[in-house]
Amino acid sequence: MTMTETSTSADLRATAIELAGDGLQLLVGGRLVDSIEGATLPVFDPSTGEEVASVPRAALSDVDAAVTAARAAVKNGWGRLNAKDREAAMRRIAALLDRDREQLALLEALDTGKPIAMSRAVDVPLAIDTFDYYSGWPTKLFGDTIPSGGPDMHVYTRLEPVGVTTQIIPWNFPIFDAAGRIAMGMAAGTPVILKPAEVTPLSAMYLARLVAEADLPEGVVSILPGYGHDAGQRLVEHPGIDAVGFTGSTSVGRKLAATAGSLLKPISLELGGKSPNVLFADCDVEAAIESAVSGIYLNAGQVCSAGSRLLVQDDIYDEVVTALAAKADGMRVGRAFDDGTEMGPVVSAAQLQKVQEYVGYGHEDGRVLTSSGDLPTDGYFAAPTIVADLPRDSRVITEEIFGPVLAVERFSTFDDAVELANGGAYGLASAVWSENGRTATRFAHALEAGTVWVNCFHQYDIAVPWGGVKASGFGRERGKESLGHLTTPKVVWNAL
Ligand code: NAD
Repeated sequence: MTMTETSTSADLRATAIELAGDGLQLLVGGRLVDSIEGATLPVFDPSTGEEVASVPRAALSDVDAAVTAARAAVKNGWGRLNAKDREAAMRRIAALLDRDREQLALLEALDTGKPIAMSRAVDVPLAIDTFDYYSGWPTKLFGDTIPSGGPDMHVYTRLEPVGVTTQIIPWNFPIFDAAGRIAMGMAAGTPVILKPAEVTPLSAMYLARLVAEADLPEGVVSILPGYGHDAGQRLVEHPGIDAVGFTGSTSVGRKLAATAGSLLKPISLELGGKSPNVLFADCDVEAAIESAVSGIYLNAGQVCSAGSRLLVQDDIYDEVVTALAAKADGMRVGRAFDDGTEMGPVVSAAQLQKVQEYVGYGHEDGRVLTSSGDLPTDGYFAAPTIVADLPRDSRVITEEIFGPVLAVERFSTFDDAVELANGGAYGLASAVWSENGRTATRFAHALEAGTVWVNCFHQYDIAVPWGGVKASGFGRERGKESLGHLTTPKVVWNAL
């Protein structure tokens, strides 16, 4: 593992820190403001562990102000714009994101620790694509005319916006998630109050500036970085919020589902995962190994659908495990702005501690095949790790780690593999590798998961629905399915 700090990387980091300190604000009902009570959040650089900025934080009074503005906007905000104008507003935001793509990429790399090459090539383009994609929807969302009630009755449905929604997101893909949640709300014509994670507020706060510049009706978008137990909980419980969208851990999702249930608020939950990536002996082994490496180490394993369980059939098990360990040991782990960094740090000291705890379980329960690496001593760095020979009930196999730790399991038969893959609590994503189309298709159909990749991994598109089953939640984000949560069909029986 190597790390080189060039003057370029130092310059990039300095620019990112300057941007982070450049007066970022909350967005309350479309207006950029500081917290009413002067609350702030510290921002840490995961690549060094240093505190690099302090930004306004939404406290309870800021939440209340945003809800008041959003309630007024249910009738007087989006209601004043027709569908084509909402589409134009989304295209304006996409153009502003495109104009400032470098600033956003720098802030994202600073805040999350992900390599700048990745935030430039993946996170920011995905955010732009999201507004582009949803900008096509408002004119295509409409109800039906239903031939019921005889010739003297006109029966039709109107797809009405659900009202005010709050959207609560995690820290692993902050700008992409923020863009998705706001764009979906704009497409459905419902005011959105977004709460980014407290650990990574920067890119969403920069987006707040762009949204303010896009000249939307008052009240329709608020962006409130704040603590979950404080601003987040208030948003879910607030009587002025009609529906909740949440992406985050299964434990918090469970709690929010209980609260929303008791208040009879619709909620959609994108929760954790422990995705099985299954290699049959007749697969393209080289391609499967390459894909398994990026499947687990992309974003330092902090991907809800990371391929964190690798199930390998007997005949190719030894070959796969040896090749994987060599690749993991050869990865360039480094700081976000260093040239050639393939994997950055994890997002926070707490996340690092969690990863280290599970590596400890790996040593206790199984065989760790990788070296612990020559890692930077400052920052939140974890080594790409592979653990084999684990008992089936090891926590390394059964629990989501959300870090660069891969559990490798061995199987013999098709049925064994189905049982192992479906044996976990989660059901977000999974993959199967086989050159036999029948095996691959039968396996894909047998898997309990929201998404199955066949001979590929980590394929995403904003047009394709995303979500899980079992402990990975319910509801779908992205694609046209996402708009179902944000609209309600109202039936009108009109006697002629
Ligand atoms: P988290 O559940 O701790 O926090 C997620 C968000 O919820 C944050 O904004 C946090 O402030 C907020 N929150 C926390 N407690 C709250 C409360 N009581 N009321 C309201 N809001 C509250 O999760 P995290 O650690 O930020 O993110 C990692 C988790 O997210 C992992 O489990 C990962 O699998 C999951 N995730 C899932 C998907 C998916 O699409 N299924 C995508 C990304 C991440």
